[in-house]
Amino acid sequence: MSGLYIHIPFCRKACTYCDFHFSTSLKNLDAVSEAIETELQMRHREIPEQLETIYFGGGTPSLLGDHLMKMLETASRFFDLSRLTEVTLEANPEDVTDENLKCWKRSGINRLSIGVQSFFDDDLQWMNRLHTGAQAFDSVQRARDSGITAINLDLIYGLPETPIGKWQENVGRFLELDPEHLSAYHLTVEKKTALDSRVRKGLIHMPADSDVVAQLTYLEDETRAKGWERYEISNFCRDGKYALHNTNYWRGKPYMGIGPSAHSFDGKSRRWNVANNELYLRNLGKNDDWFETEELSANDMANETIMLGLRTQWGVDASEVNRLLGFDHLGDNHAELISFIAKGWVLRDGNRLLLSREGRHYADHIASELFVI
Ligand code: SF4
Repeated sequence: MSGLYIHIPFCRKACTYCDFHFSTSLKNLDAVSEAIETELQMRHREIPEQLETIYFGGGTPSLLGDHLMKMLETASRFFDLSRLTEVTLEANPEDVTDENLKCWKRSGINRLSIGVQSFFDDDLQWMNRLHTGAQAFDSVQRARDSGITAINLDLIYGLPETPIGKWQENVGRFLELDPEHLSAYHLTVEKKTALDSRVRKGLIHMPADSDVVAQLTYLEDETRAKGWERYEISNFCRDGKYALHNTNYWRGKPYMGIGPSAHSFDGKSRRWNVANNELYLRNLGKNDDWFETEELSANDMANETIMLGLRTQWGVDASEVNRLLGFDHLGDNHAELISFIAKGWVLRDGNRLLLSREGRHYADHIASELFVI
């Protein structure tokens, strides 16, 4: 399998908490979109197999207009798009209009990931989002009415000063809309964001861990009661409708990322494009100053297998980690592993190591303790 990720580095506004690569000036939208097509023409041979998924992420891919169709037409010159299983577009609610939906479907998009974040206007204003709660609700219904059968919603929990009842209402509205998939992200303070600056000035106080855990526990209980799976730390789905593109990342499958700041992985090395639209435009196709590469060592590969595997409900295959390293790392002599199992945070199922429900609260800590140095 191979996945293609296309990064669209433009947004109309900067969300308070976001540290992704994007520009709020749209002046280079046409030029960068055309450069992305050029990059695809230059690099398509790096995907030797039939492409399985395409993911338009960002940034805000839903503001691409005609460029979306053009990019997919370019891709169709190199890949048989009729054999794609999943073509996802990230969309902001204000862009989910009947006209855009028709155009997206005609272009081949079969999965929409809608950046709802909250159904409350005051939360959305606080996040500096452009849409309202009503628009968020309406966008999902509109997408459903258009015939799109795979819809993801993004929601954010752990907002400051959010009573549990407000989060419960958000969860209730999401369940009422009955999408196939949910990505629920914990609000984290990323460096150099507006949120970071306000927290450092003491203008905003992040909620206590216990409040955040209560929100996540409520979400997990409510979704589980309705038959949903929490199949990855931040991702939930019903009826086995996993996000295929992202699931392949978590399973360590290769992918190619194009566009400014996009990352690629070929099974042995990583490559990442410059997170700067001007430099990308200036250097693409002329020299090698628009990307960097890194060969992964056996330790890097093993640590990544541990970190990604532990995030999923399928866990990490200890024998695969030991095979990558050439010695028995995750075995009965690993003191931290034995201690996590004793605490009930890590469960063992044959060769597989899985996080328990409680263990998922400490996923990053557990992974780093199991890393090989
Ligand atoms: S969260 Fe999405 S819409 Fe907001 S600034 Fe970041 S990439 Fe843009």
